Amino acid sequence: MARYTESTCKLCRREGEKLFLKGERCYTSKCALTKRGYAPGQHGQGRKKTSEYGVHLRAKQKTRRYYGVLEKQFRGYFDAAAASKGITGEELLKTLETRLDNVVYRLNLATSRAEARQLVIHGHYTVNGKKVNIPSYIVKAGDVIAVKDKSKSSEKFKAITEIAGSKVVPSWLEADKENLKGKVVSLPTREEIDLQVNETLIVEFYSK
Ligand code: SF4
Repeated sequence: MARYTESTCKLCRREGEKLFLKGERCYTSKCALTKRGYAPGQHGQGRKKTSEYGVHLRAKQKTRRYYGVLEKQFRGYFDAAAASKGITGEELLKTLETRLDNVVYRLNLATSRAEARQLVIHGHYTVNGKKVNIPSYIVKAGDVIAVKDKSKSSEKFKAITEIAGSKVVPSWLEADKENLKGKVVSLPTREEIDLQVNETLIVEFYSK
């Protein structure tokens, strides 16, 4: 399976903002962006001007990296959003937000999207009582996502609960912290997605 091989923190430094890709570390002074708040590479501290193309590219890359999706799949999501009846940029974000790995992360059942993705692949979660091990699985309103009974008492999930348990859960989800599960109350609206990006720039990037 294709995956990122670049240092994760470099992605945040390239985008110039925290993308919260490393779980607990992102909230501490060990965060690479806190220590080195400039782009990586030899000319990282000298880069200032961004072309119009660069602005569009950065919006697309930031969103893609935030959700940990590779280019081919991201483009596929974009094409599906463009073919839908809704507003393309918003539909794209809604699809990304309803991926199972993101939902698991949002419900505080993993400390980062990368960890969520790995734990989903290893079969630690169920959707409506059935094991689902596909990170890109798209959840629907009413779905119940839970940590598998066998996994609940593991040291891994005890640690996750301690680290991630107090993070705010978005209003379109309902978390049952005690039972390590949650429900999709409704599909997210754009206002309920906290990613700070102008999604119109992504649409323009692919429309050129
Ligand atoms: Fe980004 Fe987290 Fe690394 Fe900081 S620690 S640079 S927020 S991945």
